[in-house]
Amino acid sequence: MSLLKTCFCFTDTYTLACVKAGESYEVLKEELGLLITEINSVAEKGVIVIDGTQFSLEVFLAADYKFLLATMGLGCATSDYACLWCLVSKKERY
Ligand SMILES: [Zn+2]
Repeated sequence: MSLLKTCFCFTDTYTLACVKAGESYEVLKEELGLLITEINSVAEKGVIVIDGTQFSLEVFLAADYKFLLATMGLGCATSDYACLWCLVSKKERY
């Protein structure tokens, strides 16, 4: 099995949290703050040890665009600045 196939296969994807609340940055920060801190810590190390075996890892955040915008503290997809990757404004988009 190729590395690419194993990395992006749904069987290698795990749900870490479920939150029944609004999808605002403030709510997500409050409800998921400790989890995010732990994920960031593991991601910075780039390795994880399970049962004495060290595994290299790469962390991806996968979600719908609305959730990703909320995690970045951005507004909705139609707001003035709604790009996750750059600072282009709504007026400059085609
Ligand atoms: Zn952009």
